[in-house]
Amino acid sequence: MSATTDLFARAREHERLAQLQAARELGALPYFRVLEGPTLPVVEMEGAPRIMLGSNNYLGLTGDERVKQGAREALERYGTGLTGSRFLNGTTDLHLELERELAAWFGTEGALVFTTGHQANLGAIGTILGPGDTVVVDSQDHASILDGALLSRAKLRAFRHNRLDLLAKQLRRASEDGGGVLVVVDGVFSMEGDIAPLAEIAELCAAHGARLMVDEAHALGVLGERGAGASELHGVEDRVDLRMATFSKSLASCGGVIAGPAEVIEFLRIQSRPFMFTASGVPAAIGAALAAVRICRSPEGRELFARVLENARHLRRGLRELGFRVTPPGRLADGREALSAIVPVEVHDDWKAALLWKALYEEGVFVNVALHPAVPPSGALLRTSVMASHDLSTLEAALERFARVKRAFEAEHGPLPGPD
Ligand code: PMP
Repeated sequence: MSATTDLFARAREHERLAQLQAARELGALPYFRVLEGPTLPVVEMEGAPRIMLGSNNYLGLTGDERVKQGAREALERYGTGLTGSRFLNGTTDLHLELERELAAWFGTEGALVFTTGHQANLGAIGTILGPGDTVVVDSQDHASILDGALLSRAKLRAFRHNRLDLLAKQLRRASEDGGGVLVVVDGVFSMEGDIAPLAEIAELCAAHGARLMVDEAHALGVLGERGAGASELHGVEDRVDLRMATFSKSLASCGGVIAGPAEVIEFLRIQSRPFMFTASGVPAAIGAALAAVRICRSPEGRELFARVLENARHLRRGLRELGFRVTPPGRLADGREALSAIVPVEVHDDWKAALLWKALYEEGVFVNVALHPAVPPSGALLRTSVMASHDLSTLEAALERFARVKRAFEAEHGPLPGPD
């Protein structure tokens, strides 16, 4: 007897297929566009220069000579790949040096370098928790946090984005369930760009005996005087138990890290399957990340952190003045705006977002489009982001093109959401 269900039918018939095909035919598919040169403030993409407002290269270090030299030296010394796991034949002194530098930057006892940030989340959450424990997540947490929660087989309790009353409720329920409890939040939420209220979250965790982990992927190298992320910005570094970050954003490379107490780091080193059963990051990636960390930790780092946020402020203000609805940033305890490098333009309609993307692309501006499930249903947005290396004239040129596109787009498709 043959199997009754053809598993591949799912691939032929899935719900997004028709939408995908229609977008492709209209040339309005914002995904898988092909870069033809380095990720710089202006990139070559599909035969034309485009102002890059859709990259996580927040400090602009992918083109930095010192970072490229770090990659080159690692490549020359160790070759192209390590052909094995960190656990067996894939650890070099560069990995260990990077772990020491990252632990010193985060101010933790230890740090463990993974091959990607996704694996770092998977490998920490999936290993530290088990059946009988509870993991509490914000509804807008990154997918890799959810994947780690699923891997752990712990009970998953989600609370609506930034709703501290609902977090408190989930913590009360979790303490009734018994077992250990880990709360995991993004320091900066990757699509909305807002910053988690970590002081209040840390307080709730302490009150309920829960451990707290913060994903600093979009915050490391951007927030805090030392660039150590949202935990530093909020002054709660000593109240956050585990910090996660990726090398694929400010650090201009590829890889991930978990930083925390030595005992947990040592446990992950010998128990974490996404750490042990995958190949180690290639030497060039580790060499580049190490060079980028050193720039961040030098006095120049502070200038870069300030510049990327100044650029975000400029783009945010410009887009609002043009009449776009830009998601407002939160406020810090002292009343200052809690800016990140991410500037989301709300569209609230999938098709309009794709068509607006296309019009911008044709005008020579690349942005990202975030649709459900990356954002809540009806939450479609253009996710723009800046680099420290964007100069004001490039941002102004992008704003002029936004203005032209908005006029033509609204004449044809009706009004876009305006400022609140
Ligand atoms: N966490 C967050 C918040 C992210 O945005 C990302 C990447 N988009 C990751 C984790 C995963 O990092 P990586 O790209 O290194 O796998």
